[in-house]
Amino acid sequence: MPFAFHYAALSDVGMVRSNNQDSGYAGPHLLAMADGMGGHAGGDIASSTVVAALVDLDGESFGGSEAGSALLERIASANAELGDRATAEPSLAGMGTTLIAILRFRDKLVLAHIGDSRAFLVRDGEITQLTKDHSFVQTLVDEGRITPEEAVHHPQRSLVTRVLTGQPTDEPDIVVRQARVGDRYVIASDGLTDFVAADTIAEVLTGTADPAETCERLVALSLRAGAPDNVTVVVGDVVDATKTHPSTVPQVVGAAARERGTRPIPTTPAAKAAQLARTAAGGDDEGDDLTLAEEGPRSRGARVARWLGIVALVAVVVVGGGYAAYRWTQQQFYVGIDNGQVTVFQGVQQKLGPLSLSQPVETSDVAVSDLPAIYQSELADGTDAGSRAQADSLVATLRVQAAACRYAREQGQQCQSVPPTWTQPSPTPSTSGSPSASPTTSPSSTPSTKAG
Ligand code: MG
Repeated sequence: MPFAFHYAALSDVGMVRSNNQDSGYAGPHLLAMADGMGGHAGGDIASSTVVAALVDLDGESFGGSEAGSALLERIASANAELGDRATAEPSLAGMGTTLIAILRFRDKLVLAHIGDSRAFLVRDGEITQLTKDHSFVQTLVDEGRITPEEAVHHPQRSLVTRVLTGQPTDEPDIVVRQARVGDRYVIASDGLTDFVAADTIAEVLTGTADPAETCERLVALSLRAGAPDNVTVVVGDVVDATKTHPSTVPQVVGAAARERGTRPIPTTPAAKAAQLARTAAGGDDEGDDLTLAEEGPRSRGARVARWLGIVALVAVVVVGGGYAAYRWTQQQFYVGIDNGQVTVFQGVQQKLGPLSLSQPVETSDVAVSDLPAIYQSELADGTDAGSRAQADSLVATLRVQAAACRYAREQGQQCQSVPPTWTQPSPTPSTSGSPSASPTTSPSSTPSTKAG
């Protein structure tokens, strides 16, 4: 029986970020999502480069095991491209991206996964998480040091241990699954899963038949939760292509679509790949014949709302009565860079004209130059920490990373992240057997990167 996906994808920049570093793709035989990180430019280049490298697999017809090897080869070459670009352009040093890709071949699916984006299967009304996060907190859960429930709110939940950064050791997990008509496959960035409760996500996934409507409802839920991060959802329902008329126009969303709103898309896989590669390379495609990428329908509204909020805040601060608003900003903390040192800042990373809403409150002994490149670029953007205690905890983690990096360099080795579990001072015994994830294949590899 010829299978295909009936699919949809949607991405939104969210309510806080100024650019979308997620990239997503949905087509008849391929679903993919990448969440980029590393500086203002690096994250979207990383995610769109990797998604672009996969797109023309959607037009291939794979007979068997070559589907897996084709997918892995594409990912490896996209990863190598990230490394080359980061070497050639210093401003891109430290960029990286998560990736989940699901490629159909015959009646099977091959799923590749690296990072902390998540894939889910909805089958017979039951939801299974198909991927296991390559993250610091997942390591703690695996070791029984925190519960899955504690992981949800852990201050370092955005630290990932494995993503694509251009290093040859950045290898995804890969698993082959039997496709079944009626199955629903879903890929989501942490902009959804970190901010919308699992039960609520499950309700939408099982209670909404149409893939496009499912994406819209999930993205809307994240926006309603404040959407501090970019949010992307890709949904593919497995259908019998002879009986159901599956979706035919592939969808590209997020950074790969360059926030252009709705535009037509190339009709052949090769053209799609070429367009995406141009986009990833930052090329100007004005006047070309492309498009139809979908940016979340509320993105523009969200950005407008954000700026209106800032303007309102200015008004409130300037006109008096603003003390409460200002006081709120001064209860926030983030970790950034001051004079080359990792520094805890009090306030928020906004400026009201010449007025800064944050100030350094503690300069640590951790030199930013001692850290792995990806941490450096994350710190350059500032990493939100919530409370002062969480900021201090993040600095403690970075101190260990810096020490390990210095040691590696003294040994003439490349600087890599150390397992951040070294820094967890007080293990908390696991009290719950409820899994937050069911593993795919080989998880434990050397942690490699980021905060984001
Ligand atoms: Mg994210």
